[in-house]
Amino acid sequence: MGKKNSNGPIKKAAAGRSSALSDWCRDYKGACYTFEESMEMARAFHGYPAPGLVLGVRMVSLAMAHLPEKTLFDAVTETRSCLPDAVQILTLCTVGNNWLKIMDLGRYAVALYDKTTGNGVRVGIDSQKLEKWPELYAWLFKTKTKHEQDSEALYRDIQNASESILNTKRIAIQPRHLLKVSQGAIDVCPGCGEAFPVAHGNICRVCQGDTPYRISDTARMEKPLKSAPSVKRVSAEQAVGRGLLHDMTEIIPGEKKARLSDTDR
Ligand SMILES: [Zn+2]
Repeated sequence: MGKKNSNGPIKKAAAGRSSALSDWCRDYKGACYTFEESMEMARAFHGYPAPGLVLGVRMVSLAMAHLPEKTLFDAVTETRSCLPDAVQILTLCTVGNNWLKIMDLGRYAVALYDKTTGNGVRVGIDSQKLEKWPELYAWLFKTKTKHEQDSEALYRDIQNASESILNTKRIAIQPRHLLKVSQGAIDVCPGCGEAFPVAHGNICRVCQGDTPYRISDTARMEKPLKSAPSVKRVSAEQAVGRGLLHDMTEIIPGEKKARLSDTDR
């Protein structure tokens, strides 16, 4: 994009490339898919054709249609639900290659942007226009439980409403999101022996207690590392009131309240 990108809504006629999709969605290579095929793709990728994903592939297609041709783009979604999968189904941007960023902001919107300039297009839902589409309204505002939802009517609403309920505007991504953030130096964690970024501390985050796993009794009984000291590592909460291997604070009540080196400075 040579010209400076001005933020603001895109009028349908002003779209750079034709956004008129004869089919329901289009992938980054230009292959088109009907509504039914989109439902199938959603099922294959996501486990079931979630309404948000079926609408999402249309949103991603619309954003792509507004980018100048051959733009190398990255993506950001403003929700964790469904939309990230729409990006992954239709584009090369994935969670794993870091070209897709998921920001849990709670809005059902996606933006695609030139990965060097940060200029791009955001597609969101125009909540004002949903009143004409009761099932779609009920879905977005969660006024019905999944059980009460009329799926057929909802898919019909999505298909019929199509782009009429979407708004498209030009955006520019904050420069800090364009920077490649390096992890910095990597070292071996003395606790678990696995590689970890030194920036996380002296031991890895898992050994610091940040683990998705339950510590089962069988895991506790597993034989310890050959080189491990005969002490048990516990979380800070568990350590309260118990003896320490070494004094981390060097505070001696009534005598000294900081390391000597700190008071010397
Ligand atoms: Zn570790």
